[in-house]
Amino acid sequence: MAEGSDSQKVNPNLVAEIVSSYVAKNSVPVDQVGGLIAAIHQALSGLGNAEPAPGALVPAVPVRRSVQPDYVVCLECGFRAKTLRRHLRMRHGLEVGAYRARWKLPTDHPTTAPAYSERRSTMAKQVGLGRKSGSVEPSPAARRRGRSRQPAAE
Ligand SMILES: [Zn+2]
Repeated sequence: MAEGSDSQKVNPNLVAEIVSSYVAKNSVPVDQVGGLIAAIHQALSGLGNAEPAPGALVPAVPVRRSVQPDYVVCLECGFRAKTLRRHLRMRHGLEVGAYRARWKLPTDHPTTAPAYSERRSTMAKQVGLGRKSGSVEPSPAARRRGRSRQPAAE
């Protein structure tokens, strides 16, 4: 008798025990006992099943904790990144909008770390204030450090 690997996980004695105790307390028509056994069997074999049922999505981290100052966490797999946009598309085939809908997130739920987007806009402002495009100048601090390190002084 070749049975699926699923049914091997379920102890038939346990099923029988549950069925007999249920039948003892409830009047079950004979033609429904089979269905009862199947339902119990299914329930028991599903106990060790880590895969969440569709419609009952369990995020890798609580939504509230998925946004940190320095990174955001993918609710699908727990992946941490400064921005999830690319990860979601490459790894899960999800656009940000679909991702938010899937996890019932508000439309302003960040998929980019707040500190990172802040830094980027600061950088953009600095670039915008800069002189000619194409010439990348080191910051004053870096220039000073570079000068003091020059061995020519001795
Ligand atoms: Zn992911």
